[in-house]
Amino acid sequence: MSRPQPRPWTDHLPDGARGGFTLPEPGTLVGAWTARLAADSDRPLFHHDGRWVDRGAFLEATEEVAGRLHRAGLAVGDRVLVSGEASVDLVVAHVACLRLGLVVVPVNGAYQDPELAHMVGDARPRAALVDHHGWAEALRAMDRHLLVASTSVDLKGGPTPRLDEAGPDAPALVAYTSGTTGQPKGAIHTQASLLAGAHSVVVAWRWTDHDRLLLCLPLFHMHGLGLGLHGTLLVGGSAVLQAGFAPEAVLDALVDQQCSMFFGVPTMYHRLADHPRVGEMGGLRLCVAGSAPLAADLHRRLATEAGVDVLERYGTTETLMLVSNPHDGERRPGSVGIPLPGVEVCLDGVTGEVLARGPNVFSGYWGRPDDHPEALEGGWFHTGDLAEVSDDGYLSIVGRAKELIITGGLNVYPREVEDVLVAHPAVAEAVVAGVPSTEWGEDVVAWVVTVDGADCPTVEDLRAFAAGALASYKLPRRVVDVEALPRNALGKVVRHQLRETADHG
Ligand code: AMP
Repeated sequence: MSRPQPRPWTDHLPDGARGGFTLPEPGTLVGAWTARLAADSDRPLFHHDGRWVDRGAFLEATEEVAGRLHRAGLAVGDRVLVSGEASVDLVVAHVACLRLGLVVVPVNGAYQDPELAHMVGDARPRAALVDHHGWAEALRAMDRHLLVASTSVDLKGGPTPRLDEAGPDAPALVAYTSGTTGQPKGAIHTQASLLAGAHSVVVAWRWTDHDRLLLCLPLFHMHGLGLGLHGTLLVGGSAVLQAGFAPEAVLDALVDQQCSMFFGVPTMYHRLADHPRVGEMGGLRLCVAGSAPLAADLHRRLATEAGVDVLERYGTTETLMLVSNPHDGERRPGSVGIPLPGVEVCLDGVTGEVLARGPNVFSGYWGRPDDHPEALEGGWFHTGDLAEVSDDGYLSIVGRAKELIITGGLNVYPREVEDVLVAHPAVAEAVVAGVPSTEWGEDVVAWVVTVDGADCPTVEDLRAFAAGALASYKLPRRVVDVEALPRNALGKVVRHQLRETADHG
């Protein structure tokens, strides 16, 4: 690889972001939050299930829950799995853990036992705060020492322990992401990297305490958690929490609760654009899209039909946000914009892999000291995404060096699905790849070579077979029966040749 050459992108940064990027005092996420929320305690903070919770009540609830966790024996540095639908309880539990110095491991509620077991084995949590049916028993069976409670943390109360003492370098979050191998790895974010990640978008998007965010993104992923939730707490704005995405409920709440901002994945924008009431989004100050490419056509459609100039941004679990279209200035369809304040981004070629470094970059993978970004040349994190830059500095993602599929904004790693499919008795070989889909961004498609004499399983068969091992969004939407897989001279499957056959399946 040639030595990365950062481009002089700082000229494009918004006013106030030039010439240095200073994190709010005291340089930790929890410190910055509590400093902000301690004032004006009766200002509304979170809305859920028809009621508002104000700053004072929220902080008090986090202290109460931290007291219970402390009494239960949890100590600084212990990992806690957290998984539930978006609710005030879930947010209180998350913040209480962080204030106590615990390390939150957010988990997707769609995970099946084998996926959960991998996380338990890898992160070695001391406790789990989970709401999903059957999870408590499953988790106890995986680790009989694990303390399991719901996200309302229904444990005995205790005196408020010392809070907000974590330093900037203390681990705060382990966010699982699969990398290219199909084995999920836990990206460690510290108090400081989470703060930097939230602060850079606060600056760039001119997010203030007058903003109200409609937050219906899942809170196990960085888009909803690291941006939506952490940003709201950092500016002391407010957020309407919705568990899951329902266009009707989103449009109702935008108006009824006078929201000013909406964050969504492209699939959500696609559904909203098809809704007869899409024009009601026109009153929003800011709509942000990310986690997968927003089709340029959809961007234009939302502009003409709803008067919404969606701001697309780009980032990864490991780095939080890296690049964003400008708040003031052209938001270019098909481009993810310019580097965010405090972030250095470069490409390792004209069309090259995106490399990034900055205070927002994670500090390594949990339990894998050799797989560390600092070990890379100059501390640059290799995102695995391929991009190009226009003459005026706008970055466009043109592909992925890695084989990750993104469907409905959720990541699917082909290897993980392939490993399950090949266990089917009629399947000799299976390869999984994403093919473009207007609705989902990409569809998970499986190409299957059957064992001699067997009929190719139908998509329903394969989905039913894999449903116990994989979250439903990872299951193939199509199956293509092939005689043999196209391979290159090195024996690697040539995925782009497979994709060309997707429509004939
Ligand atoms: P995650 O770690 O789940 O946040 O997924 C990160 C991946 O999502 C990136 O490496 C990109 O491949 C993809 N991604 C995120 N935002 C965008 C975007 N605006 N355009 C294209 N790809 C994106």
